[in-house]
Amino acid sequence: MEIIIGKTSGFCAGVKNAVANAEKEIQNTDKKIQCLGELVHNKQVIQKLEKQGLETIENIEQAIEKTIIRAHGVPKEVYEKAHSKGIELVDLTCPKVLKIHKIAEEYKEKNYFIILVGVENHPESIGTISFCGENSYMIRDIEDIEKAYQKLEQSKLKKVLIIAQTTYNLKKFEKIVEELKNLLGNGYEIEVKNTICEATRLRQEETEQISKEVECMIIVGGKNSSNTKKLYDIAKINCPKVELAETIDDLDIETIKIFNKIGIMAGASTPNESVEEIKQAILNEATGGKDETKYSISRA
Ligand code: SF4
Repeated sequence: MEIIIGKTSGFCAGVKNAVANAEKEIQNTDKKIQCLGELVHNKQVIQKLEKQGLETIENIEQAIEKTIIRAHGVPKEVYEKAHSKGIELVDLTCPKVLKIHKIAEEYKEKNYFIILVGVENHPESIGTISFCGENSYMIRDIEDIEKAYQKLEQSKLKKVLIIAQTTYNLKKFEKIVEELKNLLGNGYEIEVKNTICEATRLRQEETEQISKEVECMIIVGGKNSSNTKKLYDIAKINCPKVELAETIDDLDIETIKIFNKIGIMAGASTPNESVEEIKQAILNEATGGKDETKYSISRA
């Protein structure tokens, strides 16, 4: 048996930074510390932080004094409300997301119609679209292009900026951009900024590559994590047996240990311990508890 673990598995830089700084804040303050929404889409990480004293709140109205903004970022109005309530914000929005907010504001000022390609109801997209202004539209899928076009026509604007949620599927984004360009033709000045995070792109590419090589692919991550779900969809295209697991409890190891080549990839909000736990459980089952060395685990 060979187990291939993706080298891009696990926490991305933005999540690593958010978790490390949240822990630091919890340790260094006597104040009540809250987080607006779950800090990361991972139950185990959240439970660990809650044990240390972090409370998750649903909206800024519930904020008491010190409140963390997670890596996904928040809508513009949240900053205004927090300010008017005298809430001390600890802004852990990923710098890459902040950069998109800045781009959106800049192009809104330059009278561009902004199209955000993103996942509906995802906190990052909800935040980003608020920086795009009235003349904007969020495309979730290729079917939304027509509606975006109608809103663009109503706006009478002739300049269009297309941006993406950082964790959007690159291939889908490229397809949507191509379709939009075909539809808009030469009557519009179109600017495209591929704002998909490099970490996401590499993770998706590696998932594709590994899933083509293995007989069974395990995607580790939170069930409510959008980037994890995308990895699952990518793996599904290339591999007949794909499992999505948040923890070892979600896996039937008996049905997995029969494969000779297994791939493991984890989403951006999945701690390395979850990957290690799953890897170890497969090895234990496959070796019958014996310490054998016929397993090659590649992270290179
Ligand atoms: S996926 Fe990229 S943009 Fe999103 S939090 Fe991680 S590093 Fe930041």
